[in-house]
Amino acid sequence: MLEIRNLSKTYGNGVKALDDVSLSIPKGMFGLLGPNGAGKSTLMRTIATLQNADKGSIDFNGIDVLKHPAKLRSQLGYLPQDFGVYPRMSARAMLDHLAILKGISDNKERKRVVEGLLEQTNLAKVAKKAVASYSGGMRQRFGIAQALIGDPQLIIVDEPTAGLDPEERNRFHNLLSEIGENVVVILSTHIVEDVADLCPRMAILNQGQIAAEGAPAELITRLDGKVWKKRISKAELPAYRSRYNVISMRLTQGEVLVHVEADENPGEGFEAIAPDLEDVYFSTITSGRAEAEAA
Ligand code: ADP
Repeated sequence: MLEIRNLSKTYGNGVKALDDVSLSIPKGMFGLLGPNGAGKSTLMRTIATLQNADKGSIDFNGIDVLKHPAKLRSQLGYLPQDFGVYPRMSARAMLDHLAILKGISDNKERKRVVEGLLEQTNLAKVAKKAVASYSGGMRQRFGIAQALIGDPQLIIVDEPTAGLDPEERNRFHNLLSEIGENVVVILSTHIVEDVADLCPRMAILNQGQIAAEGAPAELITRLDGKVWKKRISKAELPAYRSRYNVISMRLTQGEVLVHVEADENPGEGFEAIAPDLEDVYFSTITSGRAEAEAA
């Protein structure tokens, strides 16, 4: 269990990236969803002991993470947003090297670990190739392989599917879902599908604050009967945005499909729809924006 209490961080330029964040994250996959700039990376990097907070605490199974970062690091697997690779090193050689750094000094044991990870991430056939020559999807799978060295109890993946094509993303989802229910896996992303497909629990981070938290199905239920759709022309959009609480709009065949949040049917040809996680996400973020504008 990971317990984050009242975590705040303001950067030197005055940006408040985390504003009193509290979260309890149980074992299994946990989705942290939020738009760009929400503070996700700041939170992930703080949990991964790569940077400090101004205020608050983080506890992982009894370890005070901010006071004893080294203790946490021995149990941590981290896939950062961008990770550098040595240009000419093969995946196998690099995993071996990283396993030594993680303290697996026995040669036989290390070989077993490295080959096991190459199999698990479906990279055994290309293990001799330089990681720098890999496609985006292969690189991310390699990123998971390196994060899994040493049986971490806490795994953090920061924006892992950004830039992957649908097939690669699917493969990556399957890999993540196999990691297991006995460790804490935090998946930070701005892609709603990642969370909808994989995470039994989630939170939405917006402007440095936790704006929603729970099981995706539970968050969706809260919107039941409150989302309405209508196809309108592009020219009508500004008027609709000022009259209704438009939570999302999507261009389809030259028209705009708008989703509006309202307790009652707004009439005017709006139809009820069953909300999904995307509606939850946009509804949460839109209300955050409205509050910020009103303040
Ligand atoms: P996300 O990962 O959700 O996109 P970040 O944690 O990267 O969010 O950023 C949150 C906010 O903090 C943004 O406004 C970003 O510009 C700002 N920020 C991030 N890192 C720094 C930094 N090192 N110095 C100053 N501002 C930063």
